Amino acid sequence: MIFRQLFDPESSTYTYLIGDEATREAVVVDPVLGHERRDLDTLSQEGLRLSWVLDTHVHADHVTGANALKAATGAMTAVADACNAPGYDHALVDGERIAFGAEFLTAIATPGHTPGSTCFTWRDRVLTGDTLLIGGCGRTDFQDGDPRALYGSITRRLFTLPEATLVFPGHDYRGREQSSIGDERRANPRLAGRTEDEFVKIMESLGLARPRRIDEAVPLNKAAGPIAEGDVLWGSIPAASAAQAMGRAGVVVADLRDPNLAAADPLPGSVLVPYHDFDRMAELASRCSSLILVCGIGQRSMVAARELAAMGVKNVANVVGGIRSMRA
Ligand code: FE
Repeated sequence: MIFRQLFDPESSTYTYLIGDEATREAVVVDPVLGHERRDLDTLSQEGLRLSWVLDTHVHADHVTGANALKAATGAMTAVADACNAPGYDHALVDGERIAFGAEFLTAIATPGHTPGSTCFTWRDRVLTGDTLLIGGCGRTDFQDGDPRALYGSITRRLFTLPEATLVFPGHDYRGREQSSIGDERRANPRLAGRTEDEFVKIMESLGLARPRRIDEAVPLNKAAGPIAEGDVLWGSIPAASAAQAMGRAGVVVADLRDPNLAAADPLPGSVLVPYHDFDRMAELASRCSSLILVCGIGQRSMVAARELAAMGVKNVANVVGGIRSMRA
C-alpha cells in the first residue's frame, strides 16, 4: 500500500499522498504551498506520477500548493463544486470517484466547517479534512460555517462508516496521526453522546481567534494557489512573497494606484503605471524576469494580470490584498 502522511509544522496541516502500486499513478490531498520540493521528492522516491491534486476545502490557515504541484507535474486539480473556487480544473460532487490507476478515492460531501468541505474515503480509511479532527472538529465561525450542517455531516455521513475505518485528519496540533470512526464516536468530546443542540452550543462558545492569514489565504485558495516556476513569479501571489521579491534582481514592481494616492503614500522601488495601460505593463514585463503588479487592495492588479495573461504575457504576478496586505 502506498500511503504517506506528510506534515507542515507551521500550520499543523497533514498532506496525504496515495499511490497505485501497479500503474504508479498518485493523488495528493491538501498540499501546502512551500512544500513542493518535499512532495515532488516523495513522489519520485516512490516512483509515482501525480494524476490529481485535491483539496478538502478552501483553507483559511494556509495556502494550497495545488497549482504549484500542477505546474510541476501536469496533474489535474480538484475541489468540491460547493467551494465555488474557479481556479481548479475540476469541481467535485458528492459520491464522485477520483481514479488513479486501478485505485480511486470517493468524495463525500460533508458541509459544515465550510459549505464545500469534503472527505475522501480510500480502502479502510477516510481523510476527514477539517470536518472531523481527532477528539475535535473544524470550527464553524467563519467562511459560512454551519454547526448544524457539521453535526449532520459527522453523525450521518462519517459515523455511519464501519467502526474500524481509520480516520486521517487534516490537522492535528498535538502530534497524533490517526484515529478510528469507532474511537471518535465513543470518545470525541464534542460529539459523543451529544445532541445537535448541545453540539451547536459547544461550537458557538469556542471563542477562537481569527486565523492570522485568512484574508490573504482564502482568495489565493479559491484560485487553487499561486504557481511558482523557478524564480519567475506569475499568477496571484501572497503579499509576503511580494515583499520578499522586491529588490531582487530582475524583479520590477508596478504600482497601479491613482498617482495622487501613490504620491501621498509611495511604495519605494516601484514604477507608477496607469492601471489600464496594459501595453506599458507588457513592455516592462518583456524587460524583466518578473513583473509584480500591486494596487491598493488587489482588485486592479488582478484585472490587469488577467488581461496580460490573455495577451500571452506570462511573467506577471499580482499581489493579493494589494498594498494594504503588504503593509499589514
Ligand atoms: Fe479549514
